Amino acid sequence: MSSPIQAVRGMHDILPPSADDGKGFRSTHFQFVEDTVRRWLESYGYQEIRIPIVEDTALFKRSIGEVTDIVEKEMYTFADRNGDSLTLRPEGTAGVVRAAIEHSALRQSSHRWWYAGPMFRHERPQRGRYRQFTQIGVEAFGMPGPDIDAEVILLTARLWKALGLRHVALQINNLGSADARARFREALTEYLRAHEPQLDEDSRRRLNTNPLRILDSKNPQVQAVVGGGPTLLEFLDAQSKTHFDGLQKLLDLADIVYEINPRLVRGLDYYTGTVFEWVTTRLGAQGTVCAGGRYDGLVAQLGGPETPAIGFAMGVERLVELVKEEQSMPADPVPHAYCVAVGEEPAAQAMTLTEQLRAAVPGLRVTLHCGGGSFKSQVKRADKSGAPLALVMGESEVERGEVGVKFLREERPQIAVARADIAQWLAGWLVQRG
Ligand code: ATP
Ligand code: MG
Repeated sequence: MSSPIQAVRGMHDILPPSADDGKGFRSTHFQFVEDTVRRWLESYGYQEIRIPIVEDTALFKRSIGEVTDIVEKEMYTFADRNGDSLTLRPEGTAGVVRAAIEHSALRQSSHRWWYAGPMFRHERPQRGRYRQFTQIGVEAFGMPGPDIDAEVILLTARLWKALGLRHVALQINNLGSADARARFREALTEYLRAHEPQLDEDSRRRLNTNPLRILDSKNPQVQAVVGGGPTLLEFLDAQSKTHFDGLQKLLDLADIVYEINPRLVRGLDYYTGTVFEWVTTRLGAQGTVCAGGRYDGLVAQLGGPETPAIGFAMGVERLVELVKEEQSMPADPVPHAYCVAVGEEPAAQAMTLTEQLRAAVPGLRVTLHCGGGSFKSQVKRADKSGAPLALVMGESEVERGEVGVKFLREERPQIAVARADIAQWLAGWLVQRG
């Protein structure tokens, strides 16, 4: 026999609790994060957009930037059967902007959109860094002021609260106008040239092509060099400064704690003005759980109308790791009741009964035993399911028009409830349970 095939390196299964062997991810953690985020996004007026997983390679080159980690070495790019160059999306903003332009959505005044789904980057897999990972992101179009920047940040702060995450800290910066960035680039290049021997190969190459990217290097030695250099904030133009001050004022008013990190630039070229990251120290080196900023030039750059915009993306796997770390998720949902039935007629009636109960009692989680077996083995399954109740259908219950209710987690004798009353009994039990 040949050996079993395994998942592709850096791509993981997200397992149901019953298959969780402690090594993989658990789907209920993802549901907790995704459901919570979705609920709050809707409450802020965000609407969902779904975009393809595959796009024209040129889209990412033009938006993310040729001289970036993503485009230079992380994209899954391939020629399809027609010979067209396609790429598995490494991030969501490019596709969302493309879609907005393609459907002429940006002629209307403003939009708040969100998306969720898998992204692909050929990185070195490690904790918190995968080759297929999940992002939830938002893009807000048509709003130029610091008000939307602040709202987006308040929204993320609310998310951490709702997810029970206490160990994330906010860093903000402002990248300034294109002019300011050009002047900064000059000063930075001059400084880094003087320290060239201490730079790594990537950074030395970028000195000529895209020196700002060096600020984003993950190499500690490069980071140390950069730490002694000039910062963007020293070059900030008046308009950006006013915007940045406005943002800080709104954050202060909302009691949001933040740190100004003058070396925060983000790894994609399209950012302008406000940038921010939420960082934790609890996940080792992969500490950024959410990152974003303004990209006021991107829409026009991709052929659309001049449109101010801001967005962010969060790494769902990293949030899930944090949720596990902080044990902030409520227990996995278990069935309320597990219905056991022995014999052909009781089993058939049990199916009708559970269908009726699902329709009649909103929120009731009831699992029907399938696959036969003795009463004893079925009750064992009921116990293993975690359900507090077993609903028992035997020959005698069927004959008497009753359902047996067995209490699996308390010392309490089994009771019999009339078939006509069982839905009401369960509804009452659910309410009492709170
Ligand atoms: P990093 O600096 O960690 O490489 P990034 O700046 O490349 O992150 P973004 O492109 O801004 O990340 O993506 C937003 C978020 O998506 C990140 O903050 C992170 O939480 C998550 N993320 C990015 N790359 C990965 C990955 N390879 N595996 C898991 N999550 C990721
Ligand atoms: Mg990266």
